[in-house]
Amino acid sequence: KFSKSLGQNFLIDENIIYKIIEGSQITKEDIIVEVGPGIGTLTQYLADKAEKVLAIEIDKSLIPILEETLKDYENVEVINSDVLDLDLKGLIENKFPDRKVKVVANLPYYVTTPIIMKFLEEEVPVKDIVVMVQKEVADRLKAKPKTKDYGSLSVAVQYYCEPEIITRVPKSVFIPNPNVESTVIRLKVLENPKVNVKDKKVFLNVVRASFAKRRKTLLNSLSFSDFELSKDEIKKILKASNIDSNRRGESLTIQEFAILSNNISSIL
Ligand code: SAM
Repeated sequence: KFSKSLGQNFLIDENIIYKIIEGSQITKEDIIVEVGPGIGTLTQYLADKAEKVLAIEIDKSLIPILEETLKDYENVEVINSDVLDLDLKGLIENKFPDRKVKVVANLPYYVTTPIIMKFLEEEVPVKDIVVMVQKEVADRLKAKPKTKDYGSLSVAVQYYCEPEIITRVPKSVFIPNPNVESTVIRLKVLENPKVNVKDKKVFLNVVRASFAKRRKTLLNSLSFSDFELSKDEIKKILKASNIDSNRRGESLTIQEFAILSNNISSIL
């Protein structure tokens, strides 16, 4: 009945639903985008609180069930699509001109990162993302430099957002039980990013390249990246950025990544 490959673990615990709703601080002025409404359990609570809910579900076979569950709600629109295939920026700007939405979802774990990064990188007008994710992913989303969880996802997400853990979630609140622990995390999207980045694509590429080979120095990681810079060029850039070339990606702050990538973009 449940599709494992679509990450279908449905919430059955009202307390967790209340925590998600509370953490999202929804008011009647909020437009909510829910990714993966499933059978509409969380959707109903969202619809009670918000002005409007846009629910995007990939699984066609759930649509009749969703429509039945939500038949008394006039403020819910269900879209049957893979969220990753949608032009979310165009869709939201079209439906809700000049508005910013909140994303609230119990995410399918096999595509957590692409979904979060889609909202952020494609500049969808979003002010808040409150999502249930695998515990390990939440740890990475909020990790600080020089910790084992700090990686390209931490830097990319913290460039755009301020992360805050809302609650830990045991396996038992879902059917079927997933084989991992979960966490509800809030990513408050910043009005203005904390650091000044000249070219976001270069920034994200520098970050990804710096973490691609865990135990390699920055000099090595960046030499084997797509930038096609010589070791000498990289040494010069690192020096100009005031970063020792023997350091590793996991020790750099977001500020340092910004300086480094700004120096790289200025010579590309
Ligand atoms: N919101 C429901 C709940 O909390 O009980 C279901 C959550 S379940 C973890 C994830 C949901 O996302 C499933 O309904 C699944 O079919 C849907 N889904 C999986 N991949 C998707 C995608 N790429 N786009 C949209 N929905 C997707």
